[in-house]
Amino acid sequence: MKKILIGTHNKGKFREIAYLLSNKSKKISPTSLKIPSPKETGKTFLANSKLKAEYFSKFVNYPVISDDSGLCIKFMKNKPGIFSARLAKKKGGFQKAMKFILKKMKNTKNRSAYFICSLSFKYPKKRVVTCTGKIQGTISLKISGKKGFGYDPIFIPQSYKKTFSEISKLKKMRIDHRFLAFKKLKNKIKTL
Ligand code: IMP
Repeated sequence: MKKILIGTHNKGKFREIAYLLSNKSKKISPTSLKIPSPKETGKTFLANSKLKAEYFSKFVNYPVISDDSGLCIKFMKNKPGIFSARLAKKKGGFQKAMKFILKKMKNTKNRSAYFICSLSFKYPKKRVVTCTGKIQGTISLKISGKKGFGYDPIFIPQSYKKTFSEISKLKKMRIDHRFLAFKKLKNKIKTL
């Protein structure tokens, strides 16, 4: 069976990327190979996504797929953006980070936001191919729902009335930023 390394330590992202990939390939996690996380030194989602694919590719002799993603909130000048994971770490977890965001946005009607994902794919000894997907939506007034991961409980995708955390995991995986990036990537890499 063909192998592919899904370059993320985030269980939620791993599950979503594994779901998108062909069931003909064996999905390997860096955790199972005891590979530590790389330093995210890039200034953009694209740069960080590429950096991760290049980094993880050094540990294996089969293809690697990795992502860099985050939540960009208009009222917060597109923050937390590339700092989405770091904000949660700084605040002591996602519940606290979401409370922090909702408190900041307590008195505003300007609730537009988007989730973005840059997905990178690398064959051994080949250049990285990267595609980006974006889903527009709004920030909810309260934390709602138990499904999903990360900032899912405060993001309502456009033309929905529920947060990502309240809709089924399968449905979310078929509409989100990672899915949209994957669709583009699949057009370039047919074997995915
Ligand atoms: P990074 O790509 O490792 O820098 O992390 C991105 C951050 O954004 C993580 O904290 C994720 O939990 C969060 N994030 C990315 N995609 C999603 C999503 O689909 N739902 C909820 N949170 C997400």
